[in-house]
Amino acid sequence: MGSAKWHAIMISLPHQGHINPFVHLALKLASKGFTVTFVHLESVHYKLGREADPFSEARRSGLDIRYATIGDGLPLEFDRDLHFEEHWRVMMRDFPARVDEFVGKAMRSDPDWEYLLVTDTFYPWPAVVAPKYNLVNVSFWTQTALTFALPYHWHLLQLNGHFPCKDKMEEEIDYIPGVESINTKDVMSYLKESGVSSIVTKAMAAAFDAVKSADFILHNTMHELEPQTLSALHKYQPNYAVGPLNFSKNLHHSAVSNSLWSEADCTDWLRSKPPASVLYVSFGSFIHTTKQVMEELAHGLLLSGVDFVWVIRPGILSSGDADALPEGFGDEIKGKGLVVPWCNQIRVLSNPAVGGFLTHCGWNSTLESMWCGVPMICYPIAYDQTANRKLVIEKWKFGVNLCDGERLDRAEIAEKIKGFMSGASLEKLRQEATKLKAAMEKALEFDGSSERNFDRFVEDLKAKIVDVKSRVAREIR
Ligand code: UDP
Repeated sequence: MGSAKWHAIMISLPHQGHINPFVHLALKLASKGFTVTFVHLESVHYKLGREADPFSEARRSGLDIRYATIGDGLPLEFDRDLHFEEHWRVMMRDFPARVDEFVGKAMRSDPDWEYLLVTDTFYPWPAVVAPKYNLVNVSFWTQTALTFALPYHWHLLQLNGHFPCKDKMEEEIDYIPGVESINTKDVMSYLKESGVSSIVTKAMAAAFDAVKSADFILHNTMHELEPQTLSALHKYQPNYAVGPLNFSKNLHHSAVSNSLWSEADCTDWLRSKPPASVLYVSFGSFIHTTKQVMEELAHGLLLSGVDFVWVIRPGILSSGDADALPEGFGDEIKGKGLVVPWCNQIRVLSNPAVGGFLTHCGWNSTLESMWCGVPMICYPIAYDQTANRKLVIEKWKFGVNLCDGERLDRAEIAEKIKGFMSGASLEKLRQEATKLKAAMEKALEFDGSSERNFDRFVEDLKAKIVDVKSRVAREIR
């Protein structure tokens, strides 16, 4: 095996919350001696814009990470975030053939490599492309093990009348192996009746069918957070909790520019604020919301009297309207609030002035909040976010809920934020967050669970590559 040249072709989903862990997985694989070709959609490359090759610095540090792009068939200017359904319809229809062509060409250009495919679990096509080229198929799930386990057992949900899950239904799902119990109100939006005709539901059904043929499944979570769920999954296929990769030791984290928007620097503004006094507010890179929600939040924040940094991403409104805030809001906040289009979230969360995070509960944001020991106030909107909230509040106990009813109300928001940010309750939540942070640091030590899992994965992977190679050689003979 001394002369083996392992070459991972990695293809992430074109969204920030997937790109971030994927980039860190690439760095990690390269640091273990793998050559990596990291593939972005052309539209992502266009958005990254600032640099021709985001991995050039990582390469200068000695890692063999190459960079390539594939088109999705739509014009570069097409607003993929706003027209998400249409983009995904095209991705489901045309992208597999483009990947197939790319992989075939890459393999022909250097047949001496031993190739493998590392792709996002959301993609169904690896189940076809990997066997066609005799590639070891590694599926990377960038979210929690809980939100993997539910659709993994799709047939059980169906058998129990929980797929599609009625929107108003409140029943316990207590039959998924490794999952204690989850109420139907907390399951992912794509399993619910209102989401059933969406492209996401179709894509997820296909993806969770396809993942059954993956050779390995990696999870960007750690064993300590979801031990039963991960152990139960391991009985079906080799699953490895290797996260949170964004904080893995000895990686050149800053070596890759992967932010899809330019980052505003909040440091100067935060400098004048007392410790733990500022609420950081962000709903991630992807979700859309309505003007009405933004207005209630804006007034709620003002009424709370709490200082805040609020990320309002361009295009956050589902209407496509550019103006997300109430008129005159900028004048009213006067030094109490800073609104930015995008920032370096980890830098903001780790600033001592930041005491809490009002978040949509995206999985990366949740991990980053834990890593920085910052309690969360949860406002999930869709996808895996309600399930993440359940874990944060009920299991890990370092967060509270923003609003209990269906509609946001400015007075309720103000009360909740004031209560959340006030001394005693925040301190208790912070103690829990700090414990989680310590557990994370431990998992990422060289003998910690995630690091050991990663090493075990690499060993198993190399053995599998040898296996596949000998099978193919036998078949040719
Ligand atoms: N993020 C960032 N700057 C911002 C807001 C978000 O860098 O101003 C990053 C954040 O650090 C996280 C990602 O965007 O890594 C969002 O991922 P998450 O899974 O939380 O939510 P999603 O965007 O997938 O809904």
